Amino acid sequence: LNSAERELLRSRAGFRCEYWRLPEAFSPFLFQKDHVVARKHDGSDDSENLAWTCPDCNAHKGTDLTAIDPESGGVELLFNPRVQHWDQNFRWEGAIIVGKTPVGRATVRLLKMNLRERVALRRELMGADLW
Ligand SMILES: [Zn+2]
Repeated sequence: LNSAERELLRSRAGFRCEYWRLPEAFSPFLFQKDHVVARKHDGSDDSENLAWTCPDCNAHKGTDLTAIDPESGGVELLFNPRVQHWDQNFRWEGAIIVGKTPVGRATVRLLKMNLRERVALRRELMGADLW
């Protein structure tokens, strides 16, 4: 990843994690490129298969492509920030992220988007109008 590619990923993501929308500026850790379809599954290095993520989401996602929708129990593909819209799959309930679709619910669950520390950070940033 050269610096031009890195800047493309960052600006395309609005300088936020493409999964839970954490602004990069408020993460103590460097963000990373995520292969939406992992290389293990022959996902390419093309920017159309890359997302900009915080290291936590990247670690929770690993090489997975699917997760269980807690509502239906069915196996669902994970949210793909390259071809799907965040607002169509997730909504806010205060500082909580709620999946609106099977994809959204499965992704919230696998990526642990509502871990207590994450909700606390969002609440703090939202309260200060920084989210
Ligand atoms: Zn993240």
